[in-house]
Amino acid sequence: MQSISILGSTGSIGVSTLDVIARHPDRYRVYALSAHSRVAELAAQCERFRPQVAVVGSAEAAGELSALLRAKGLSTEVAYGPEALCDIASAQGCDMVMAAIVGAAGLASTLAAARAGKKILLANKEALVISGQLLMDAVAAHGACLLPIDSEHNAIFQCLPPGYTRSMQAHGVEKILLTASGGPFLTRAVATLNDVTVEEAVAHPKWVMGRKISVDSATMMNKGLEVIEAHWLFGAPADKIEVVIHPQSVIHSMVSYSDGSVLAQLGNPDMRTPIASALAYPDRISSGVTPLDLAQIAQLSFSQPDFDRFPCLKLAYDALHAGGTLAAVLNAANEVAVQAFLDRKIGFRMIDQLIQRVMSAIPNRQAADVGTLLEQDTAARAHAEALISQ
Ligand code: NAD
Ligand code: MG
Repeated sequence: MQSISILGSTGSIGVSTLDVIARHPDRYRVYALSAHSRVAELAAQCERFRPQVAVVGSAEAAGELSALLRAKGLSTEVAYGPEALCDIASAQGCDMVMAAIVGAAGLASTLAAARAGKKILLANKEALVISGQLLMDAVAAHGACLLPIDSEHNAIFQCLPPGYTRSMQAHGVEKILLTASGGPFLTRAVATLNDVTVEEAVAHPKWVMGRKISVDSATMMNKGLEVIEAHWLFGAPADKIEVVIHPQSVIHSMVSYSDGSVLAQLGNPDMRTPIASALAYPDRISSGVTPLDLAQIAQLSFSQPDFDRFPCLKLAYDALHAGGTLAAVLNAANEVAVQAFLDRKIGFRMIDQLIQRVMSAIPNRQAADVGTLLEQDTAARAHAEALISQ
């Protein structure tokens, strides 16, 4: 029996994780759950999964949650704020941590889980984009285990040999082929991209996800973040990570070997597959995902991404090439820009323009420690906010 803390349990990944866990009560027990503000949903999850601890974002939310739990006769301990998230990520009572908070807000708790030597199921790609080397170092130094939940990276992980040491050369790996659906605007006329609405941008053709990652998929910044994520997870240089547009989202990524073999992982686009595979690794458990019907899919197609259509993808490659704190700056500017777009303050094409301006305005630094990264994150956010209010 393994116990798990789910950070961001009310989100898209959090809910899918609980769905898989509910199918295997003999294997998994929930130690802690967390939500930012959706108190009623969190209370319902507590009633069903009986965690020891539940964490929310504010004292006010904690008060509301306590009242709801008392009314249900539950004894779940309630806490709030970033430190409480680090506590449930590193607590002795949990073996595994699902890091499913969105954005830089998940960084501290993910690092805390690494420093406590936990098995980390990493959905929060932004944590790795911001603090790549530091997070990988913390995982190694404290004997933690990092398993990717992002469907592409989970696929790559499954296609790499067991015991892969983050050296492509040592294992005869030629290239990582990162597939991308291309999102909702793959074929829309580029000249009309600035007119896209929030509703159009969040309507992903293949995946149902949180709002931020849905916009990231529409700009393809999501794929850019994933290129950086793949770099850190698999020790792959930027020029060995190739993005392939594959609109059917059936192949979740591939690994190309020096003998000419290309290994792929396939499945229906449902996050419960990567979640179940990481939860049970190296075992296999049922996930509730419908089996793949290849005859019904009939066709798989592939093409190259177009940087003119998707400038965010190019910006992410630039950040990876530059190194230092530029990826943290890119991420912070993107978070602010996406929120401004969702709030209807800026147009769709302003997202990439804003990120580019912030990246050239903030001097790059060595990513020496978390403090430096957080300073750069703060500076990038402030600069992006200033540009938006102009
Ligand atoms: P979501 O918006 O649906 O859920 C986010 C969760 O984080 C919620 O539980 C929310 O309460 C919590 N949260 C938000 N802001 C917070 C804050 N400031 N402090 C603490 N908690 C906060 O997002 P999602 O789609 O589930 O994505 C979560 C992460 O997983 C993201 O990093 C995303 O890139 C990654 N991911 C998601 C998918 C997917 O299919 N949804 C696929 C791959 C990777
Ligand atoms: Mg992905």
